[in-house]
Amino acid sequence: MKQFISEKKFPYKHFTTTKFASNMKDEIVRNSFLSSLKLNPVNLVLANQVHSNNVKIVNAFNKNSFIDNCDGLITTDKDVMLGIFTADCVPLLMSCGNCEFKAAIHAGWKGLFAGIIENTLDILKKDFCIKIEEIKVYIGPHICSRCYEVGYEMENRFNVKPNKNKLNLSEIICNKLKKCGINKIFDIKRCTFHEESSFFSYRRNQCLERMLSIIYA
Ligand SMILES: [Zn+2]
Repeated sequence: MKQFISEKKFPYKHFTTTKFASNMKDEIVRNSFLSSLKLNPVNLVLANQVHSNNVKIVNAFNKNSFIDNCDGLITTDKDVMLGIFTADCVPLLMSCGNCEFKAAIHAGWKGLFAGIIENTLDILKKDFCIKIEEIKVYIGPHICSRCYEVGYEMENRFNVKPNKNKLNLSEIICNKLKKCGINKIFDIKRCTFHEESSFFSYRRNQCLERMLSIIYA
């Protein structure tokens, strides 16, 4: 098994690590892994993720740091790499055209309900004049619709019917993106929960380890 996977059809440099790259929350492990791929860890910007709808714009001054109190990062800096930690939640990576911007989002049900996708797209449209319909989105490995058991209250939150108490995060995300005019969606369709040998899953064993999804120029 490889230490990272990527979606061939998503045309921007990116990947999500697997269990075989070990715990990406560990700075020493993370830096040595990135260096092994000839990526400079100093260029990475990460978020102290809090399941919010907060999105921050970052640049070269934020390199090699964690941005507090947010779950979405946007940059137009070519050198900056954006990273998101997950273990069941959804890592979303975005870009468009000739990589005019990069965005990385941590999307669990709380952030999705609070509007993290809409907030990100709003900033891209208003602050960067990005044509929303040209944005391409990578949906990384997350807990799948066969594994994600939830209460029925979720039905009212998302206007989707949980199938036998199972919630489909991909469907919620695709619906939101399509509503905003985005159709170029690349879902890697891998499940962190049932693919036990490949991924960490918080639901499976309350693990502290996390995978890292990165978008870089
Ligand atoms: Zn699954």
